[in-house]
Amino acid sequence: MLETTAPAAAASAALPDFARRRTFAIISHPDAGKTTLTEKLLLASGAIRMAGHVKARGERRRTRSDWMEIEKQRGISVTSSVMTFERDGIVFNLLDTPGHSDFSEDTYRTLSAVDAAVMVIDVAKGIESQTRKLFEVCRLRDIPIFTFVNKVDREGLDPIGLMDEVSSTLALDLTPRTWPIGMGVDFRGLIDIAEKKAWLATERGGPLVREVPFTEIEDLIGLEGVEERIMEEAIESLTLALGVLPPFDLASFREGHLSPVYFGSALKEAGVPQLLNGLSDVGPSPLPRAAQGRTVEPGEDMVSGFVFKVQANMDPNHRDRVAFVRLCSGRFKRGMKLFNPREKRNMAIANPIFFFAQERETVDEAVAGDIIGIPNHGMLRVGDTLSEGESIRFEGLPDFAPEILRRVLLSDPMKAKQLQKALQDMAEEGVVQVLRPISDPAPIVGVVGTLQLDVLSARLEKEYGVPIRYETTSYATARWIVGERAEVDRFLDMNRSSTARDRDDAPVYLARSQWVLDRAIEEWPKLKFLAVKERG
Ligand code: GDP
Repeated sequence: MLETTAPAAAASAALPDFARRRTFAIISHPDAGKTTLTEKLLLASGAIRMAGHVKARGERRRTRSDWMEIEKQRGISVTSSVMTFERDGIVFNLLDTPGHSDFSEDTYRTLSAVDAAVMVIDVAKGIESQTRKLFEVCRLRDIPIFTFVNKVDREGLDPIGLMDEVSSTLALDLTPRTWPIGMGVDFRGLIDIAEKKAWLATERGGPLVREVPFTEIEDLIGLEGVEERIMEEAIESLTLALGVLPPFDLASFREGHLSPVYFGSALKEAGVPQLLNGLSDVGPSPLPRAAQGRTVEPGEDMVSGFVFKVQANMDPNHRDRVAFVRLCSGRFKRGMKLFNPREKRNMAIANPIFFFAQERETVDEAVAGDIIGIPNHGMLRVGDTLSEGESIRFEGLPDFAPEILRRVLLSDPMKAKQLQKALQDMAEEGVVQVLRPISDPAPIVGVVGTLQLDVLSARLEKEYGVPIRYETTSYATARWIVGERAEVDRFLDMNRSSTARDRDDAPVYLARSQWVLDRAIEEWPKLKFLAVKERG
């Protein structure tokens, strides 16, 4: 009754290097277990020893620049980092996304650099607000999603009910790959559906190291250490689930329509190796990327990539920045010169950084799917494309309409010039969006989460010596106005007090409420009011 898929990892040695890459992110609501799962994935791959890792991470935090104070105070990670680890010839690049509910646009951009995502769900809570938001971002690009239902060692929703809820809330097909044998105090292990194996603990509550292959699932009834009642219930619900849910289908998964579901407990390391197997076996290797004018294949000779994140001032003594570049094709070698079409010039990449289990290492070579850090002095911006000569631009790094809009007021009016420069830097780095109202000299900053505001004011004061205050505005949301020039101008003329220009001079409508926005959309049928704008 159970279907089998042959593991692909064994054949990995014969594949080109890029085909052995799995570049992914974990998305979740705070507290669902993303941090724990990240650490257990690193542990399962042998990349870290648990204690050492956690300690090293804490120490590095302390040595970072001052604005990281905010991270420490709030106990959250403002910035996204990259972890690379290897298992059985497969190289995993895990891009960390901040999980705090007050997340920034960094998260969105990080998701533009991955080929797959693991969605962690707390078994007792189901889909939560943040999971949903992040899922919608993944859906914009039809990224394949693995689902990890975490904390089965605790009482939770019954697996079928949970899958039903997730499926209908997200309009996503689900299919189980592992199934829990009991939950909460009754948790005894997992059934790996594809491999036709049960994984059990040798002692109650211990790690799932006992491997029990089976031919017919009913063979599992009566196993030592698992009460018949618990196993029978698990088999019954799994059989029911397999009967009503679609089978795993690679094409449907790769198109982002079907998510394989893994049950487990990150804390107890249960289900984590199975998830890693899933990532190895069916997780996509780097995909072709759409650029303006053509599609770039990962196996092409030409090196190309794009900047999805810039982290500035990691060292407060130097105005250094690290641009995080996702490679999309070719074989990158240290010292290579790459062309930046925006600046129309070549740049020698002398000291690229590779992130191996969070330790900085110097790279000698990297291929499509890999992330490299490029230290620079402000030449690289989020959205920049780098390539070996060809003037291409990758698509898919959007700006999102800010949901929070604040006027920036200077405490010291003599510092207007510095403020302008600082805001321009921050906008380029992608910390905030800066909007210049057409009829008011005070700039407005737009963010997706309020934490970005704290980061901005802390950094302006520390790094630029420009203390600022925020003033609330009466605007509820912003939209980019797109249409024929004459019509856009007519709109701007008639709405002078509620329009602005963004960093690229593109016109933006500042709406006082959703209702006002809906009315404008109705009254100006020739215009589009966009919530997402491609960087270009
Ligand atoms: P994050 O906010 O998503 O990164 O969540 P964390 O990984 O920090 O986990 C949040 C809390 O849930 C912590 O107290 C973890 O110890 C706990 N936790 C994580 N995974 C599990 C699990 O599988 N079982 C149980 N019982 N607790 C877990």
